[in-house]
Amino acid sequence: MSARLITSPANDEIKAIRALERRKERRETGLFIAEGLRHVLEGIQNGWELHRLVFHTKVSGKNEIRSAQRACVAGGGQCFEVNDAVLEKLSHKDNPQQVIGVFKQRISTLADLPKNSCIVALEQVRDPGNLGTILRTVDGVGADAVILIDQCCDPFSVEAVRASMGSLFAVPMAQTTREEFTAYMRAWKGAVIGTHLSERTVDYREATYTQPVLLVMGNEQAGLSPELSGALPTLVKLPMKGRADSLNLAIATGVMLYHIQDRTG
Ligand code: SAM
Repeated sequence: MSARLITSPANDEIKAIRALERRKERRETGLFIAEGLRHVLEGIQNGWELHRLVFHTKVSGKNEIRSAQRACVAGGGQCFEVNDAVLEKLSHKDNPQQVIGVFKQRISTLADLPKNSCIVALEQVRDPGNLGTILRTVDGVGADAVILIDQCCDPFSVEAVRASMGSLFAVPMAQTTREEFTAYMRAWKGAVIGTHLSERTVDYREATYTQPVLLVMGNEQAGLSPELSGALPTLVKLPMKGRADSLNLAIATGVMLYHIQDRTG
C-alpha cells in the first residue's frame, strides 16, 4: 500500500500536524496527536477515526503499519512516509517516535455515558499529566467513564494523551458545566461521593458505596468548589497522618477507585 513521501519539515501537511500541539488549533480542527505505534493501534482498535498516519520509511514494511494504513485510508484519511528530519519536527526529543497518528476528537454526552460500576467526575482539573494518569487508572480498574466539569485542561493535549498511555481511547469522556453536572448528580441512582479536605467529611472507609458510584474529585489547588461540595450528599477524606496536608489528585483518585472496587465488586 502506497503512502505519500514527505522529506521536507516545511511541508504544509507536516506544519498542520505540528500546529496541533496548540489548544487553539485542536479546538478549531477537532483533531489531536497520538504518538507511537502502540497508541495509534489502540485508537484504531477502539474505532477512533484516524485522519493522518505518519511513519518513518524504515518501519514501512511492518505488518502493523500496513494494517494502520488500511484503516486510515478506509476512513478517508491520508498516510505519509517520512524521514528523520520530518519526524524530528513532529516528535519530541524526550519521547522520539517512528509513528504519529492524528485522530478526530471524540466527546460523549452525559446521557450517553455507561453507568455500570463507577464514573469519575473531575472539577477543573488543570494538570494534563494528572488527567492522563486518571484516564489510565479508570481504564485499569475497569470503571466506566470520566466527566470533566467546568474549565479543565485539554484531554487531547499531547501531555494528557501521552500520560494516559492509550487509555484515552478506551475511556468515554464527557464535558459539562457545574450546573449541568449538579442536575446529573441529583438524578444519579447509586452513591454520590465527593472527596474533600474540609471538616464536613467522613473517613473514606466509613461511607457506603452503592453501585453505580459517582466519584467527584476537586481541583489541584483549590479542591472542590464551595458550590459543588455544598451540593454533594457525602464527602470523604483519606486520612493524612504526616506533614503533607493532601495527596496528589491522581493518586487520591487511584486510592478511591480501588477502594470502591473492593467495596462493590
Ligand atoms: N488545597 C486543596 C484542598 O484543600 O482541597 C488540595 C486539593 S488536592 C491536591 C486535589 C484533590 O485531590 C482534592 O480536591 C480531592 O478531590 C483529592 N484529594 C487529595 N488528597 C485528599 C485526601 N486526603 N482526602 C480526600 N481527597 C483528597
